Amino acid sequence: MKISLFLLVYFSGISAYLSCMATQDDIIGIDLGTTNSAVGVVESGFPILLANSDGQRITPSAVSYDNDVIVGAAALRQRGAGGSVITSAKRYMGSRYAEVKDDDFCVPLIEDDQGNVRFQVGENSVSPEDVNAEILKHLKSVAETQLGRNVSKAIITVPAYFNDAQRTATKRAGELAGLEVVRIISEPTAAALAYGLDKLEESSRVAVYDYGGGTFDVSVLEIKEGVFQVLATTGDTRLGGDNLDETLARWCCDQLDELNYDTLEISERQRLLDAARTLKEKLTSSDSAELQIPFFRPDLNIDLSLTTEQFNKLIHTEISKTVRYCKQVLFDADITHLDKVILVGGSTRIPAVRELVGKVFGMEPDTSQHPDEAVALGAVIQGGMLSGALREMVLLDVTPLSLGIETLGGLMNVIIPRNTTIPCKAGELFTNAVANQESMCVRVLQGEREMARDNWELGRVEVSFSPANKGQARVGVQFAIDENGILEVLTRDTQTGEDTILEINSAAVDVTDEAVEKMVTESVDYAFDDMAERVFTEAKLKAEELLPAVDAGLAQVADEMDPADLTEIKSAAEAVRSALKQDDANTLKSAVQKLDKSTEHMAAILVEKAMEAALMRKLES
Ligand code: ADP
Ligand code: MG
Repeated sequence: MKISLFLLVYFSGISAYLSCMATQDDIIGIDLGTTNSAVGVVESGFPILLANSDGQRITPSAVSYDNDVIVGAAALRQRGAGGSVITSAKRYMGSRYAEVKDDDFCVPLIEDDQGNVRFQVGENSVSPEDVNAEILKHLKSVAETQLGRNVSKAIITVPAYFNDAQRTATKRAGELAGLEVVRIISEPTAAALAYGLDKLEESSRVAVYDYGGGTFDVSVLEIKEGVFQVLATTGDTRLGGDNLDETLARWCCDQLDELNYDTLEISERQRLLDAARTLKEKLTSSDSAELQIPFFRPDLNIDLSLTTEQFNKLIHTEISKTVRYCKQVLFDADITHLDKVILVGGSTRIPAVRELVGKVFGMEPDTSQHPDEAVALGAVIQGGMLSGALREMVLLDVTPLSLGIETLGGLMNVIIPRNTTIPCKAGELFTNAVANQESMCVRVLQGEREMARDNWELGRVEVSFSPANKGQARVGVQFAIDENGILEVLTRDTQTGEDTILEINSAAVDVTDEAVEKMVTESVDYAFDDMAERVFTEAKLKAEELLPAVDAGLAQVADEMDPADLTEIKSAAEAVRSALKQDDANTLKSAVQKLDKSTEHMAAILVEKAMEAALMRKLES
């Protein structure tokens, strides 16, 4: 009796297609970082980062000059072997020797005829551009190996604070690597692109907190109709994850009488720092971790363990140094309101850093992207936009909001859920709610709310069918959305096979982002009330069905029943009637359940009687 609706067919053919013109001219995107670099490209319409021969999307910005030039993790491994390994060359892009001559760098610094800085490697010397060119060349070859074709154009990112000389030096490095540098873009802008912030339509202000390996910077961007402007940027080129490694290495020496950080040999210090970095990175995903270096010295094995709690205490001072820059950048940008904070740089993977950022800016940072890949990804997206690889893509369309019809009690019955890939098709079978009903109105709705009235009506169609007892007529409703977003609603009287077709233009798919967001936000905001109303409505429908049935049953078999049962049923029915007058979903639901339960006995007697009657009829005939 309670079949008010059941499933007829469900074939939501998730067959989506994606076509992309073969990109004639790839433009690769490169994050040329102080510590790590990455490269990617738009491939088949998707921005992706490409893995190097170690299977890693991130390549250390290290170059070793011995017999051969080696780049990446392999270069870092040469460090112990006494070769000339250069790391953090980016710090010296566009630098004058006089400004940096006292720096403590991995190789000796020397001056060229024009007063620029060079690095001494064995008997030769190389410029910062040369070193970065080696890294870029390496990334170019990673891309070519992965894509199986040559690439010649690139977008390269630089810090927002890079001056003209530094940008020119970066461009030159690209040219030395055989790349045409189509554009130099700033790292925070690239990161914002990767986080999809160009889609924000109104003007919005975003803070980009970039805590990398050797540097920290924070910027405030203004994004207006897809155009980015850096309002302010500040930071410290000597503040990064490396300092945390040193903090840990010092802690390690403090635990062991044999070691003093300041008097360690260079190679010992390097091994300890490498182990400290591993320990640090492990602590972002577990509560405690070990630092073990067997045979650190012939008579010394290091075996220490650290909990995240202790780690947080150790790094507190260091990470807190970023706070004043955050305050500074907000002051410089002269704004009172921020819309978003995004995280960039590997060191923002540390939970304590995320917490700190949340506190400083008074809002949870967006962590939806890999922080150490966001800059490269943004460069890739920019490259894809310039080459046309992103524009020419046929977007994989999905239904922005759920589609359904109104059912008894004013409820929304979803037929195609939100975010279903189109084209798609789905349907259900409905029945008449009232005896001898001759038609029913199918209201096509769109939205995420539980009650039909809170959703949007896309159209309606009157379906007629042959009169029948309540719940006997069958009407199939099928929704089909084609690749153009046209929704076709087909209703069929299953008895006569007669179809009615209602066509709704692309309204089912063409909804503005704001409207979708508003609907979704409302559905979340009202989730509690909506659910309560749905529960109440469903319980009410059930009550309206039960009460007359109970009255009819009592009239028939009351005198055959146990008086205690009778009293129970009557009071349960009374409870339902009074609950109907209140507005509490749970009260009504449990009253209905109680009434249903209390009538079990009566129902058994009724069934028995009905069977007896049927038997009598049979005997009589
Ligand atoms: P860059 O400074 O070149 O932009 P990255 O953004 O890649 O470099 O950041 C590198 C830093 O991030 C290193 O100090 C590294 O130890 C740190 N890092 C990477 N992953 C983690 C992690 N899981 N936990 C803590 N630090 C991490
Ligand atoms: Mg970086």
